[in-house]
Amino acid sequence: MSLPHAIDVDDVAIVGAGAAGLATAIFARQPWRRARAAAGQEDASTAVAGPTVRLFDGARKPGAKILVSGGSRCNVSNVAVSERDFWTSGSHAVIRRVLRALPVPMTIAWFREMGVTLHEEEFGKLFPDSNRARDVLEALLRTATDSGIRLCVDARVLAVRRSPDGLFVLETNRGDHRARKVVLATGGRALPRSGSDGGGYELAAALGHRIVPTTPALVPLLLDGRFHTRLSGVSQVVDLAVWVGGRLAIRVSGPLLWTHFGISGPAALNASRHIERARLEQRQVRVTVGFLPGLTFERADARLTSCGTDRPKLSTAAALAQWLPGSVADALLEAAELPSTLPLARLTRVDRRRLAHALVEWELPVTGSRGYTFAEATAGGVDLSEVDPATLESRRCHGLYLVGELLDVDGRLGGFNFQWAWASGRVAGAALAQERS
Ligand SMILES: Cc1cc2nc3c(=O)[nH]c(=O)nc-3n(C[C@H](O)[C@H](O)[C@H](O)COP(=O)(O)OP(=O)(O)OC[C@H]3O[C@@H](n4cnc5c(N)ncnc54)[C@H](O)[C@@H]3O)c2cc1C
Repeated sequence: MSLPHAIDVDDVAIVGAGAAGLATAIFARQPWRRARAAAGQEDASTAVAGPTVRLFDGARKPGAKILVSGGSRCNVSNVAVSERDFWTSGSHAVIRRVLRALPVPMTIAWFREMGVTLHEEEFGKLFPDSNRARDVLEALLRTATDSGIRLCVDARVLAVRRSPDGLFVLETNRGDHRARKVVLATGGRALPRSGSDGGGYELAAALGHRIVPTTPALVPLLLDGRFHTRLSGVSQVVDLAVWVGGRLAIRVSGPLLWTHFGISGPAALNASRHIERARLEQRQVRVTVGFLPGLTFERADARLTSCGTDRPKLSTAAALAQWLPGSVADALLEAAELPSTLPLARLTRVDRRRLAHALVEWELPVTGSRGYTFAEATAGGVDLSEVDPATLESRRCHGLYLVGELLDVDGRLGGFNFQWAWASGRVAGAALAQERS
C-alpha cells in the first residue's frame, strides 16, 4: 500500500489501529456509515460525506493485542463497569465521564451491530459467543473498511508536528502525511512486540504533554527464595495485601497461581500495579498473602482451636489441607518451622498463634515483576488533566485527541481495559463526527 507524499489532506489521521484507534475511527464515521446503510450501498453521496479518516499502524497486522487477549477469546468488556475499576494519578471524575459516553449495554449493542454477540461469564466478564478473539478483530476491521476508513499498515508514525498552515504533518516510515486533526491511539508499553512500545509517549510529549511515569500493570510477580518453586502450577484462592510505607494500600482477593518464577493469576496481576507504583515512588512496600480468604487473625486462630477440639488426632498438615492445597500446607509448615505431623490439638499456644498468623499474613518476598513483555497493561501515561473529558481533545494542542491506554488510566482484570479503549474511542470519535455534521 503506497502512502501519499504530502499531497492528500485527511480530515482525521489516527495513529494506532488497536482497540482504541479502531473504535475512534468507526465512531468518527458512524453517522455516515449508518446513513449509507439506510440509503443502500449504491448511494455514493452518503459514502463520501463526513470526515475522511486514515488509520496508521506500525505493525504489518494491527490488532495483535486483541488477538492474544483473554487467552485468544478476548474479554471484550464487563457487565458492570465504573470508574472504581480503574486507577489513575489524575481525576476519577474524568474516567466516569468517559465511561458514561459508552455504557455497557451500548457496547453490547455496538458489537451486535458489527456481527459479534457477547455472553457473560464468571465475574461479569463478556466474551464473544464464538469465543474467538479473531472474530472481534475481524468485525472491527470489516466495519472500518465499510465505513470508508483508510488503513495504512506497516506505517509507523515517527513524529507529529504542526505546519505553519495549521495542519498536522505526520512523518512516517513511508513518507509524510497531512491531516486537519490527529488522534494518538498508540497504547502503552505492554507487550511491546505487538507494536505498542511506548513511542506514543514521545509523540504526545513533543506536542506539549506531561507523561505520568509509567510502570507495568497486570503483570506476574517475581519472588525471591524457594517457597514458590515447589508449588509451581498450584492454584488457590487467596487475599493478597500490599502494604506501602507500613499501611495497607490495597487488599485483592482471587485466584493466585504459583509459578517457577513467583506468582501469577488474577490476584497477583491485580496487585501488581500497586507494587510497581510504590517501587517507582521509592516507597517501602511489603506483600502478604492470606491463605484463608476473608479471615482475620482472631478468626483463623479460632478455626484452628475448634478444629483441634473436634478432631484431636488430626495432624497439623492434614488439618490445613482441609482449607488449602496440601502442597501449600506442607510448604507453609516447613517454612514456618512448625511440626506438620504433630496433631493440631497438641501445638503449643505460641505455635498455634504463629500458624494462625502465617495463614493470614504470610510475607511474600517480591523482588519485582516480569516487566512490560509480560504485562497486560501500562499504568501511567498522558496526564488526564490535559484532555477535555467531553471530547478527549488535548488542552495543550488544539486539534489533537488522545485515547486508550496512552492516557494515565489502567483497569483491573476483567474486560475493563478494553471498555476504556472503546469508551474513549467513542468520546473522541463522536466529537470528530460532530465537527463535520
Ligand atoms: C496478553 C494481553 C491480554 C489482554 N487481555 C485483555 C482482555 O481480555 N480484556 C481487556 O479488557 N484487556 C486486555 N488486555 C489489555 C488491552 O489489550 C489493552 O488495554 C488495549 O488493547 C489497549 O488498546 P489501545 O488501542 O489503547 O492500545 P493497543 O491495543 O496497544 O494499540 C496501539 C496500536 O498502536 C500502534 N502504534 C504504536 N505506536 C505507533 C506509531 N508510532 N505509529 C504507528 N502505530 C503505532 C501499535 O502497533 C498498536 O497496534 C490484554 C493485554 C495483553 C497484553
